[in-house]
Amino acid sequence: MTGGAPARSSGGPAEPTGSTRPAVLDTASVDVHSALVPPGALHDQVTAALTDGRLDDAEQLLGAVGDDPSPYAVEGSATEPPLDTLARAWSETLRAELLVRRLRLAGYTLLGDPTGPSAYGDPSHHDAGAGLDLHAGMTGLVEAGLASPLDPACGGDPPPTPPDDDDPDRTESATRAALAIALVRSARAAFDAQDDDLQRAAGLVRHARIELLSRRIDAAMDEAVEAASLLDPGLPPTVLLTHTLTALAGVLADLELMPLALDYQERAHEVALLLAGTPGELTRTETALLVGESAARWAGLSAEVGEELLDDGALDAAALHFTSARTLSARALEVLPAEGPATVAAQVVHGWALVGTGRYDEAGQLLTSAVARTTAEDAGLLASARLALGRALRRQGDVPGADEHLAAALELSTEHGLARLRRSSLRELCTLHAEQDDAARALPYLQAYLADELDRVDERRTRWVELFGRRKSLLETERAAGQLRRQAYEDPLTHLPNRRFAEARLDGLLGNGAAPALAVVDIDRFKSINDAAGHPGGDVVLRAVAQLLLDGCRDTDEVCRWAGDEFVILLPDTTAEQAERAMERIRRSIALHDWSALGIDVPVTISVGIASAARGDDRRTLFAAADGVLYDAKRGGRDRVVRLSGVTQTRATDHLMEPTPFAEPDWLPRPPAPAGLAVSDDPTTLNSDTSVAEIPSNGLTTISVDPVQASQLHDHPLFPRASVSRDDSGFGRLLVEPPGAEVPVIPAPPEPAVAETPPPRAPYEPIGPDVIWGTGRSTEQVLALVREARHTHPDRPAVVIRADAATLVALGAEHDAYTTMDAGAMAAAIGPLPEPAGRIGVLSASGADAPVAAEAAFVARVTGTTVVRVDDVGGNRIRSLITDRTLLDDLDCLVVVAGLDASLASVVSGLTDVPIVAVPTSTGNSGTFAGFGALLTMLNSANAGVVVSNIDSGHAAGVFAARIARRTARA
Ligand code: GH3
Ligand code: MG
Repeated sequence: MTGGAPARSSGGPAEPTGSTRPAVLDTASVDVHSALVPPGALHDQVTAALTDGRLDDAEQLLGAVGDDPSPYAVEGSATEPPLDTLARAWSETLRAELLVRRLRLAGYTLLGDPTGPSAYGDPSHHDAGAGLDLHAGMTGLVEAGLASPLDPACGGDPPPTPPDDDDPDRTESATRAALAIALVRSARAAFDAQDDDLQRAAGLVRHARIELLSRRIDAAMDEAVEAASLLDPGLPPTVLLTHTLTALAGVLADLELMPLALDYQERAHEVALLLAGTPGELTRTETALLVGESAARWAGLSAEVGEELLDDGALDAAALHFTSARTLSARALEVLPAEGPATVAAQVVHGWALVGTGRYDEAGQLLTSAVARTTAEDAGLLASARLALGRALRRQGDVPGADEHLAAALELSTEHGLARLRRSSLRELCTLHAEQDDAARALPYLQAYLADELDRVDERRTRWVELFGRRKSLLETERAAGQLRRQAYEDPLTHLPNRRFAEARLDGLLGNGAAPALAVVDIDRFKSINDAAGHPGGDVVLRAVAQLLLDGCRDTDEVCRWAGDEFVILLPDTTAEQAERAMERIRRSIALHDWSALGIDVPVTISVGIASAARGDDRRTLFAAADGVLYDAKRGGRDRVVRLSGVTQTRATDHLMEPTPFAEPDWLPRPPAPAGLAVSDDPTTLNSDTSVAEIPSNGLTTISVDPVQASQLHDHPLFPRASVSRDDSGFGRLLVEPPGAEVPVIPAPPEPAVAETPPPRAPYEPIGPDVIWGTGRSTEQVLALVREARHTHPDRPAVVIRADAATLVALGAEHDAYTTMDAGAMAAAIGPLPEPAGRIGVLSASGADAPVAAEAAFVARVTGTTVVRVDDVGGNRIRSLITDRTLLDDLDCLVVVAGLDASLASVVSGLTDVPIVAVPTSTGNSGTFAGFGALLTMLNSANAGVVVSNIDSGHAAGVFAARIARRTARA
């Protein structure tokens, strides 16, 4: 398999949109009439030609590709002549790849380190001395008398090593290289400028391929990681996504990151399947190619991993991978058309998997036919076909046959720079001859293989694997946090934001000094609806009411499900009167809704209470006020909207209406309406704020206006007359419970978790955050302690350390907006964090010390200081600290966490005058005597400037260091 090759299938939509562009000349080798070619077909052909090593074809096609828009142009970005930036970026990328491949064939890379002659390679390759030092930049390449088609703006690099002008081949290569560099830069800039993550990722992956061809491993890895971090799993399925994931898998495989490559290829296949299941997206042929190719590539990677496992003697694991490869490639062959290069590629993989699962004869036949049908032009495919056939023949004992095919595969792969195929060929050849006890023939292959291996187990690669993993897990954590956040804020039944959201949002609005109106909505007699329609029927009503509420609101209003059959609506910058009009419209739309269509044959109505915030009102007050008038609406006969006046903060008396029985179901007992409550209109009434135009005409023929009556608020048990006199303002008094009053059962507004005003401080109150240890405590216990701590000290965070994951999740869910969390430290801080002051460093000696270091860093941060963390600096790795002095010198205090490497603290104290807190750890090795050894080492250290904290006490050290830093910053 040739890793990294994008799919050959047409990537663009099927609609021919290029008819206004100039026709492109047909080429002899490709049956293309580009005036009619769907966008992207040319790109795909060039890509395929490049991948197969048909560089002349690619070059010829590239003459036309400039007029072909990006196969993946963002909709609407059009392709205004001459080319939009994205299309240009794609075309530049293709050209750059062609140039780099040509350079490779000539023996050069952009890095300037020649691919070098191989013992089996093309003898015309340059020898090691002929490398172009392109790393030094291209200005010099151009200056050295070479005509350059480049934009001078691309120059400006430091002076390069002068090229050897006498060598025309070298000169031409230098020109090509300079051009390639310029094209890559320009394309890269264009991709970077894209807002679309997927487009950027796609460009990055293609550039990573180019870097790989130039053997710039670090750069390739950089781009691959960046592309991976942009490919969020939430991206909608598209052709470009499938291609990009496939290409990324190829790059990762070339970087020897096989497990990652498998993951991404699997994702590519899943996306292809999703697309296949979306009707109308692609033609049948396109779908088949996309699904088949991604399955075949996945199979190829699986077989490759199987081969490696076989090599390591892990026979069972290898068998699993080969079986999976066989199943996947069989699936690919089922969907792919009978003919075509994609089909042959899938056959080759299938043959290979058959070899892996011991079915040599079957494999031999399939692969012989695949080899026969593949031309030398299709170098990558031919090499993998011959390699697989050689494998089959070796197992069948046909030594000369195997040797012939394997040697051919080696030659092809060497010539075309297909590193993975080359290594596999070498390995097979070596094994073949070793099995014959022919050391003389086996040895050179072995040597070449080992030389390649050495190149492969580069130390950098290990680092990159780590980095990749870390970034990936970072993404996953972010994603999980996002999901948690969604769950924490969303009501699962209606998908409306929930009560927690409503509270936080209202706090936010009030905190910003906004004056929102709040409507509390309750479905009338919902228990009876449940009784009549069943609980599922009740759920249907809840969802429908939610939708009707949404439909009737402005985009800026927030409709939330409070609980049960209650909803709240936050209307920013809205007066009570405006809110009332809006709610009245909605109330009517619900009462008039055709509920029978939903199988509900009982009337559905709502009652609404509205209050608007006055200066200084807090959430609780506002909710209580709105809830109070909702109760009025219920008492007034239901199916109505009642508001408190936003101006006076008392119930409106300017448009009291007699409740009318419009929607009151007569199958329900009706309580007598108290006379004269502040009740607004129902469908048959019209108040002064409601214009006729706002009333829907459906079914409403009679509109009457009822006489205004005075409020008799003293009738309400919650609101004694004295508390709502006209002189009163604000809601606070409304909440005063009259002595002896019977409190009606109405849904009470929630008690906020945080006390409004902190109680006065006791003289010996602890300073700094409250610390709650999770060790030995259940989640419930921790939650209760946090609630208590937040209640007592709402102004500072409650810090939970050594908590298990379930407790952290529960904390996050309960205190979402207030929670700062660090899963590495197993710690969380709930509540407002102090402004950071000063700066500390936390060093850890080895990976085993990281949890304690994480705890120290976290606690210091939430205590209120900036933290710089450097892990794994024990032993020789301390060099990084010595070379980069800025790290140590710019600190107010340093925490050094070490177990086995306990001397680290005293070593560091010799490097800096920053005060040090040393934390001995018990982790890492049984020989540390539960940290006692480290503790003694630290205590016995001769160096001054170090104090020693208790074993594993990251928390104590973090607080200590933060205090030093904060005081230093203050000074
Ligand atoms: P009122 O007009 O006074 O509001 O009378 P009501 O019957 O609506 O009384 P209340 O609002 O107290 O009743 C709420 C009912 O909603 C009680 C409960 O069984 C039901 N309920 C709560 N949550 C759900 C739910 O998710 N689905 C369904 N179907 N019913 C629910
Ligand atoms: Mg109700």
